Amino acid sequence: MEKIKMTTPLVEMDGDEMTRILWKMIKDELICPFVDLKTEYYDLGLEHRNETDDQVTFDSANAAKKYGVAVKCATITPNAARMDEYDLKEMWKSPNGTIRAILDGTVFRAPITVKGIEPCVRNWKKPITIARHAYGDVYKASEMKIPGAGKCELVYTAEDGAETRELIHEFDGAGIIQGQHNLNGSIESFARSCFNYALDTKQDLWFATKDTISKKYDHTFKDIFQEIYDKEYDEKFKAAGLEYFYTLIDDAVARIMKAEGGFIWACKNYDGDVMSDMVSSAFGSLAMMTSVLVSPEGYYEYEAAHGTVQRHYYKHLKGEETSTNSVATIFAWTGALRKRGELDHLPELCEFADNLERACLSTIESGKMTKDLALITTLENPVVLNSEEFIQAIRRTLEAGSVA
Ligand code: NAP
Ligand code: MG
Repeated sequence: MEKIKMTTPLVEMDGDEMTRILWKMIKDELICPFVDLKTEYYDLGLEHRNETDDQVTFDSANAAKKYGVAVKCATITPNAARMDEYDLKEMWKSPNGTIRAILDGTVFRAPITVKGIEPCVRNWKKPITIARHAYGDVYKASEMKIPGAGKCELVYTAEDGAETRELIHEFDGAGIIQGQHNLNGSIESFARSCFNYALDTKQDLWFATKDTISKKYDHTFKDIFQEIYDKEYDEKFKAAGLEYFYTLIDDAVARIMKAEGGFIWACKNYDGDVMSDMVSSAFGSLAMMTSVLVSPEGYYEYEAAHGTVQRHYYKHLKGEETSTNSVATIFAWTGALRKRGELDHLPELCEFADNLERACLSTIESGKMTKDLALITTLENPVVLNSEEFIQAIRRTLEAGSVA
């Protein structure tokens, strides 16, 4: 059988620990036998980030801008323990943070739904995609502990020196304060990424904030979304039969629990952090969540939503058997290959991505799965496979499908 040709390379960002082991197995078993794979390879494993003073992370993000589509393995974000473990020169920043800052994107996370892994919320029939704004608010806040009585104010000093003040609170005892910010430009990018992704995936878009209480801060998010929608997207949404819907965050949360799914929920940074964990665990498992960073210019970076699965890696190093779920990492590859296929007009590549995804789902639906899924499946007598056997089982399903 002839391999499927590619014309433009994918930017391949390798990573750490158990997911690095899965990465190689996925390429060897599920991709390279079928696709004449072209990638520009960047090793974002922590050792190599340390050797290059993290330059490799910057280079990989710039390559994503050059080629437009990247696929990323999970990576370690160093903490104090990792400083010793890897003898690091510095506590390097989170690669995802660095890449996000360069691509200025929005992160879309969606559950991979499969028969036999049922959502805790009975009426959720279709995936709910969370779009998380990845800049500012509490993640870039300044905070103070106020030791005792005194006055706190917000002070804005314009370039000409003119001051505007707003009283926060007259303290008569100890307390706490916090200053947050966001940027109109970043909110505009967030809005456009969400509208484009909704059109791209043919799903309605919901957005919610607390604009009734936060009449300037949250209200600005609401206004910017509405202005951009009215000017640039209203006609396109109507033509596609899609809806943009704004409501209050508490109303959105209540409606989500009663909804069927099948839409995108745009969230401010903190809401997205919290709600994506809720949605993913309610859908079944973090190992069944895809994640894609979409920049306002239309660059895409695909990854799994979970981390490097450190605990399984240590078992693997001791020679013990692991049963690590590779589905989200496989879907990162298929997402990237499909997007490359769309951009380069290679229908065979898109079809391969669809087939490989279907092979993952049918393998699980036939009762063969990793331990994390076996623990929560509604299928009777699931067969628990180890990391390697699961990938081999997917390959057999894929080959059976393509022969037929
Ligand atoms: P994690 O790798 O997501 O794993 C946490 C736990 O979730 C695992 O111990 C495992 O539970 C379960 N799990 C996650 N993915 C699984 C899979 N594919 N198959 C089966 N079980 C899975 O999070 P972590 O252990 O907190 O973080 C490890 C490292 O990942 C850290 O260094 C962190 O910096 C990094 N991280 C990277 C990213 C990223 O690159 N996008 C994201 C998050 C974290 P059991 O042990 O109970 O089986
Ligand atoms: Mg979180």
